[in-house]
Amino acid sequence: MDLSSYADLAIELVNTQDPAGDTLRDLDGLRALLHDRPHLGGRIAHRDLDGMRALRGQLRQIFASAAAGHDADAIDRLNSLLIQHPVHPQLSGHDDQDWHLHLNEGGSIPDRYAARAAMGLAVKISDHGLDRLGACRAAGCDRVFFDTTANQTRRYCSDRCAGRTSVAAARRATTGVKAEVPRQRQR
Ligand SMILES: [Zn+2]
Repeated sequence: MDLSSYADLAIELVNTQDPAGDTLRDLDGLRALLHDRPHLGGRIAHRDLDGMRALRGQLRQIFASAAAGHDADAIDRLNSLLIQHPVHPQLSGHDDQDWHLHLNEGGSIPDRYAARAAMGLAVKISDHGLDRLGACRAAGCDRVFFDTTANQTRRYCSDRCAGRTSVAAARRATTGVKAEVPRQRQR
């Protein structure tokens, strides 16, 4: 198991809220998020939903601080998550697989999710750098991403956000309001 792949859990959770709406509003939304991750599922209660929504805010802040260049703040917040949700590794060899690592089989759903997401982010940052964590710069969009471009130029979560930002900038330009038009289309 590549621990850095757990960093995707952070992205998936933060991006349950975007300009189109919030898919983590109820227990069905939480079930949908955990659907493909049986190790994180189990009986789901309202307090799990509350915990996951709180965790979502904490993770979003880490990305926002990193994207704004507030490195120390981003690292402090992540280190706090790592302390709050320690990893409890277990070797497992079920279903004829080779011995492999499982993390935090016990504990609440938010606790298990947080331990994996925080460990994944920590490994990702130590392998690739904090400036790989990005937050969409489009107005009204809070989505986050890992910037995998060679020169770290990604600014938007999607073509959609890049597109509507350049349309808005072009509109401002034609109406005489000074605006910076993005030089290139982002992924
Ligand atoms: Zn966006």
